[in-house]
This record gives sequence, C-alpha cells and structure tokens, in this order.
Amino acid sequence: MIHPDDALALIERLEPALSVETVPLAAALGRVLARSLASPVDQPPFDKSAMDGFAHRLPPGTEGEFRVVGSIAAGGLPAGPIGDGECARVMTGAPLPDGTVSVQRIEWTEECGPGLVRFTRPEKIDNVIRRGENVRAGDIIMTPRRLRAQDLGILAAAGYAELPVARSPRVGVVSTGDELASPGERLAPGAIYDSNGPQLVAMALAAGARASFYGRHPDSEAALERAAAKALAECDLVVLSGGVSMGDYDYVPAVMARLGVERLFHGVLMKPGKPTWFGRKGGRFVLGLPGNPVSTFVNFEFFGKALLARLQGVRYRPETLRLTLAIDLSRKTADRVEWFPCRREGTEVRTLPYSGSSMLQALENADCMVRLEIDEKLRPAGSQVDARLL
Ligand code: AMP
Ligand code: MG
Repeated sequence: MIHPDDALALIERLEPALSVETVPLAAALGRVLARSLASPVDQPPFDKSAMDGFAHRLPPGTEGEFRVVGSIAAGGLPAGPIGDGECARVMTGAPLPDGTVSVQRIEWTEECGPGLVRFTRPEKIDNVIRRGENVRAGDIIMTPRRLRAQDLGILAAAGYAELPVARSPRVGVVSTGDELASPGERLAPGAIYDSNGPQLVAMALAAGARASFYGRHPDSEAALERAAAKALAECDLVVLSGGVSMGDYDYVPAVMARLGVERLFHGVLMKPGKPTWFGRKGGRFVLGLPGNPVSTFVNFEFFGKALLARLQGVRYRPETLRLTLAIDLSRKTADRVEWFPCRREGTEVRTLPYSGSSMLQALENADCMVRLEIDEKLRPAGSQVDARLL
C-alpha cells in the first residue's frame, strides 16, 4: 500500500513523450501550451497616449495656453513633431508626435480662442505609455500551462495566430460489473445504473482530454480483456471502473498482467480509493478505479487529473482555499488519508452528510473536499483546513 502523496509524486515524476501540434489561436482555449513563447514585438510598439487630451513638450504639472497643431486618432499618425508652445490633440491609444513629454487630459483643459487651449489643472503624471512598457520584444510572455481566456489575450497581443500545444490525450473509459445497466434502460432486479462511465468521460473531457466510452462490460476476464485491449490500442490513458477490489470478480490485476501492463501501484492508503490500480505499458497508462461512485470521482480528481497534466507536459495544481472548519471533522479509524465532501460558506467550510463512497448524491452540494491525514481522528471546529475546490 502506497501513501496517496507518494502515489501522486510517482505520477508527477513520469516523463511521457510529449507530442506537439499547432492549432489556431481561436482553438487553443483549454489546451496546454507546449513551450514558452516570447513576444516578437514591443508592446506597445510605439509611445502612445493613455488619455484623450493634448500632447505637449513640457512635463506634467504645466499650466498655460498652447496652440493646437493637429489631431491624432488611435491608428492615425502624427503629421510631424510638436514645437514649443504647441500641442497636438490626441485620442487614447494614439501614437504621440516626436517631442512629446506629457499629455494633458481633455477634462482639465478649455478652449480659449480659435486653435488655442488652456490647461486648467496640473497633471501629476505624464499620461504616456512608453514603447515596450508592457512587454519588450524578446521577453517571455507565456510559460507552458493550460490556456485560459486571458492567456489567449496575451498571446494575441503579441501577434500569435497559431500556438504549439500538447496533443490532447485520448482517454478511454471502460465500466465493468454484471450489475450495471446503461441510463435509459429498464433496471432489472439487482441492477444499478452505470454512473461511473458517463462521469469519468465527462471528467476527462473537462480536464482537456479527448475522451470516449468503451462500453460497460460484464464481470468476465474475457470481456474485460477485449475491452481493455481495444482501449489500450487507441488511447493514452485507459480508465477502468470496478473490478480492482478483492472480490471474486475483480479481474483487473490479472487481465492487466496478461496485456503486458506493468503495475506501478495497487492499493493506496486513501479513503475512498484503497484498491486503486495504476500501471503503464510504454507511453500508455491504465488507471483502475474502485466502482463506488464517490471513490471513482475522488480518485480521478486526485490521480487522473495529475496524470492528464503530465501527459501534456505540465503539472496539475489543484485550486485550494484555506478555510475555517465550521463543525468538528471526526472519524473512528484513521489508518488512511480520508477525503470528505464539503461545502463552503464564506470563509468557513462544513462537511456534508456522507456515510460512504456509494453516497454519490453527497456530491450534489459539494463544492470542495477536505482531507484528514493518517492517524488524525479529529480536526476540531475552528481549525484551518485547505479545501480542495471542485
Ligand atoms: P467494485 O469496485 O466492482 O467492487 O464495485 C464497488 C461498488 O461500486 C459496487 O456496489 C458496485 O455495484 C458499484 N459500482 C461498480 N461499478 C459502478 C458503476 N459503473 N456505476 C455505479 N456504481 C458502480
Ligand atoms: Mg464489480
């Protein structure tokens, strides 16, 4: 049995070969940037006005009258330099004429004759955005990460029309269990719906993978072997639901051995998720998750997301928040790390009614999870905890 943090560290040490493709900027949301990129241009590429106003040759704070010698729009060009006693009308974003030292905002001016303007209140700052003030050509503007909307904005501002991104991992999900029916079917006596299949596919998609369902299969070695072999031939990561425990029909370890998948760990000191199985075959991976739905969820959250990030060349950093426990968090046995579904209320967090890893409905109102460590039976109300946001 491995400690979950050691299991996670093992995943984070994996260095699977990264395959890179080029995609249009507009298609890169949620993809992982494959290498650091520099700005090919100074930003802004020229000295520009931060205000609608008047550009002139004197420092901020100047008062008096000036002759207006032209008007420059954003996207326009100065007709020529400005001289002493002169100013040019400029719009926000307009390139500044040579000789400009500062810009007087229009609100603090008044017309005082034909072609004449008076500055009525002293400026404290120059209202000029200098060439390269935001970014200099050659500066690294983006390191590898899962790209967010603002990242695409930054890359667009540098002129990138296409981006090198890691190929999205292909994930195949296989559900096993004689008791399973697919949603939409009639439930026979003793049957339950396969919730793990749809949930795992959705979790993998949400994590940026191309995920598909390889069906639900009865508890037979032959059926599992067929489904797993097909998924393994087509996918970077195969996620199996069920069949990893110690029951009579838990065939995952034996079938994986036959398929040549090397076991990296089996059994984690974590609740839920004790029987979790993880292995690799070359650059492909198999994550075998226990069938109880909360267990499936928590283990994909903890191990699956980390692995998908590694397959794209980055590390997954879960979002956490330091919050105050609203009520005692306690348990009778403390032989494993244990995750509890929780809900935040302002700066507090409370556990939700939850009696075990088959209680999937507990996730409806959960927006985070809190963990207790090995040997920790009680975390009293008022303690600070790191809540992992869902
Ligand atoms: P197993 O890991 O196969 O021993 O299953 C543990 C528990 O999870 C059993 O109660 C199963 O009925 C249930 N279970 C297994 N697979 C699924 C699934 N795909 N969806 C919902 N529950 C499942
Ligand atoms: Mg089963």
